[in-house]
Amino acid sequence: MILLVRSACRISGKGFEMAFRMKSLKSAVLLCVILLLTFGAEKTDGYSYKVKKSTGEKVVWANKLIRWRAGAKSFPAGSPFRTALEIANWNWNTTPADFCFGQPIYGVTSVARGNGENEIWFSTDPDALQGSPALCYTWVYSSGGKLWLKEADIVFDAGIIWSPYEYTGLLGPYGGPCRPFVTTGIHEMGHALGLGHENRFYNVMGQDPTHVNTNKGMTYGYAGADATQGAVFLYGKTTTNAFTEDLAVTHWKYGGAGEEYSIHTPTVIYDRNMNVVNSDTYAGFPRYHLKSAALQQRWYKAEFTYENNGFNTQYNIKVRFYVSTDRTITTADKEIRYPFQIGQLSSGAVWTSAHDISAPNLKIGQTYYLGVIVDPKNEIEEFAEYNNASYIQIKIVP
Ligand SMILES: [Zn+2]
Repeated sequence: MILLVRSACRISGKGFEMAFRMKSLKSAVLLCVILLLTFGAEKTDGYSYKVKKSTGEKVVWANKLIRWRAGAKSFPAGSPFRTALEIANWNWNTTPADFCFGQPIYGVTSVARGNGENEIWFSTDPDALQGSPALCYTWVYSSGGKLWLKEADIVFDAGIIWSPYEYTGLLGPYGGPCRPFVTTGIHEMGHALGLGHENRFYNVMGQDPTHVNTNKGMTYGYAGADATQGAVFLYGKTTTNAFTEDLAVTHWKYGGAGEEYSIHTPTVIYDRNMNVVNSDTYAGFPRYHLKSAALQQRWYKAEFTYENNGFNTQYNIKVRFYVSTDRTITTADKEIRYPFQIGQLSSGAVWTSAHDISAPNLKIGQTYYLGVIVDPKNEIEEFAEYNNASYIQIKIVP
């Protein structure tokens, strides 16, 4: 695990990604961890909160390596939150941006805002939290006629039920009781890099718990196309990572603009008149009711969001649809019509689109998972291969 997030920040092999994420499963218990207590020498003299630009100039770190000093009570030895913190780090480190969150420093007994150190902890202090589930405070200094970041602190609300795990059923967007720590960690780290809130697109700097890739019963947080583009704008292209490309597909989409955050909603199935098909809620998520005969006659369109999280534009990306009797979508599932190609998907692009589907002989009354896979033959080398498949829940009706 440490090999992946070592401070040199070289991400040399994409094969490590699953091993890394699986590690968090090994000791996992299907329970949320509730942090009851934190502490900390909390003294406030906050200056700036979320500085992005000053007089038109980027405000960035001169030293592109942050190592979080993690509060001892918040991230004790053996805590799954240590793994979750490193997964959030790793999600940024695998992007093509030239910035690194190094191996965290654990066991820090005194944390505070504005003490010159980059720290992360859980708190119950309303002054630090300002009513938010989590916040990132940043401080700047002036040099060479511009501002530079000099400190970032991330504070999580200890009163919220956080899940350090990424099991779909645990998480609020799927009817579960917990807020995902990893997605919020990625969002706050985005602030630490210099990113602000974004409400115009599906992106992690909007509502983070619904900015996820879901397949195989897991719901993974990630930096995503738009925020990655922002990080590359701020820091340039990685000089160390072996892989800089990544395609993804998700069953979430942009659903509108909140005051500061983008709102995300589940993707849908349309009928041939582009009306959203009737649905109910199953396993905490929409399940669309498709008529057996109509499904055989190409009357439906399945909507998904396709993203290019990598550095380069990708061309002629193959997309295939499947039906599965479980939530695990792989190329071993039954492929259905109609495959298509995405002619071009630019770096940073987020494209939500509905495409024709058709499937024969599905059993009336049964629930299926309408699967999608981008780049099913792995023709494009990616730094994250686990996010190439997802699904929409369907039920076959007469
Ligand atoms: Zn924020």
